[in-house]
Amino acid sequence: MSISFESFGLHPALLKALQNKAYAQPTPIQQSAIPPALLGRDVLGSAQTGSGKTAAYALPALQHLATQTLLSPRRTLVLVLVPTRELAMQVGEVFKQLGHHLPQAVQITTLFGGVSINPQMMRLRGGADIVVATPGRLLDLVDRNALSLAHVEALILDEADRLLDMGFAAEIERILSLLPAKRQNLFFSATFPSAVQQLANTLLAEPVRINVQPEVENAADITQRAILVDSPNRTQLLRHLIEQNKWSRVLVFVATKHAAEMIAVKLRKARINAEPFHGEQSQGKRVQVLADFKAARLTVVVATDVAARGLDIAQLPVVVNFDLPRSAVDYTHRIGRTGRAGEQGLAVSFVSTDTQAHWRLIQKRQDANAQHVAPHVALDVVAGFEPQEAPLEISFSNGGIKGKRPSKKDKLRAQAVSNAE
Ligand code: AMP
Repeated sequence: MSISFESFGLHPALLKALQNKAYAQPTPIQQSAIPPALLGRDVLGSAQTGSGKTAAYALPALQHLATQTLLSPRRTLVLVLVPTRELAMQVGEVFKQLGHHLPQAVQITTLFGGVSINPQMMRLRGGADIVVATPGRLLDLVDRNALSLAHVEALILDEADRLLDMGFAAEIERILSLLPAKRQNLFFSATFPSAVQQLANTLLAEPVRINVQPEVENAADITQRAILVDSPNRTQLLRHLIEQNKWSRVLVFVATKHAAEMIAVKLRKARINAEPFHGEQSQGKRVQVLADFKAARLTVVVATDVAARGLDIAQLPVVVNFDLPRSAVDYTHRIGRTGRAGEQGLAVSFVSTDTQAHWRLIQKRQDANAQHVAPHVALDVVAGFEPQEAPLEISFSNGGIKGKRPSKKDKLRAQAVSNAE
C-alpha cells in the first residue's frame, strides 16, 4: 500500500494546503525524510531539485511551529539557508503556500542580497518565525541587529554543495556559531564532494541518511542529443532548430553573461522572443524574465549556470547547452531542467572540434557516476551546419561526412568570427 500524507500525522491545515497544491502522494524523499524530521532527528538528504525536497523539510518545519504557541515579537525558530536568491524566493513561496491555512499565522521572511536592505529590515521588525535566506545578506541583517539567531530550533541547509561552490563556507561557519548548540539540522545536497561531507559531519548528529536521485531516474525521460557544429555557427543553428522544430520554450545555457546578452540580442533580431538571465542583472529584471518565461511570453531564455539549479519551471521541453557545462554534475543539473515530473524532455548539446574532448569527458564521468545514463550520446550533424573544422579522427554515424583538419587560415577565420560574436 502506498504511503499517504495523512499517515504522517500532519496538522489538518497542512493536509489542506497539500490538497490545494494537488500533491496526492509524498515523493520518495518526502516519504523518507518527513517521518524522522517530524521526530526531531537530523537528516542528511542526497537529493536534487525536482525531488520534492522543499516540502520534505518545509512540512516538518511547519508542523513544528503548528504545535507551539508563537510568541510576539516572533523569534526565528526555523532558518533555511539557500545559495541563490531565486531559490530563496521559490522556497519562501513553498513555505507560504504550505503554511497558509495554519490557525496561528506563521511569519515567513525571505532575505537575499542584490536588493535594498531597508525593506527587509522593516519586514523583520515584528520578527519572523521562519527565515529563508542567502548567507551573506542574513549576516548583514544580523550585524545590523535586525534579527537574532539565538532561538533557532531547526536549521535547514538546502543545496549545500552549491552553497560551498559559491564561496559561502566562511559565512556558514559564522552563522553556525550564532545558533544554539541544541537544534535539529536538515542537510540537503545534490552532490557530496569532501568539503560538503565535512560540513555535514560537523553539523549533523546521528543523521538519518536518505539518498534519492530523481533527475537520475528522470534521465530516462530526457532524450539527449549532441550536435557537432563549428562554434561561430551555433547561433544560426540554434535559430534553425527553434524555427524548424517550432520549439515554444527553450532554456539555453551559455558560459558567460556576455554570451547570454549577445545571443539574446541576436535571436531577437531574428524575431525570436529571447531574454538573457544571469547573475549580474537586477533582481527585478530576473524576476520579470522568469515570470515571462513561465507565462510563455518568452520563447527563449539564455542563461548562465545561475539558472541551472533550483529553478522549477514546469513543462520545459527543451534545454540547449550552447556552451558545454564545466562538469558532468553541472550537465546533469542543466538537463534536469527538462523532462520533469514524468514529462518528456529534450537536451541538446552543441559540441565543436575544440570542445569535443570535454564532451567525451562529461559523458565518461556521467557513466562513471551512475547507472543512469544513457547509452553513449552519438554526435550528430545537422544539414546545412556541417562542421568545417572537424578533425580527421571523427567518423559520423550517419556515414560519409568526412571532416577536414582546419588550416591555419580556417582557424584564424573562426577565431575572428567567434571574437566578433
Ligand atoms: P522541489 O524538488 O522541492 O523543488 O519540487 C519539485 C517539484 O515537485 C515542484 O514543482 C513541487 O511543487 C512538486 N512536488 C513536490 N512534492 C510533490 C508531491 N508530493 N506531489 C506532486 N508534486 C510535488
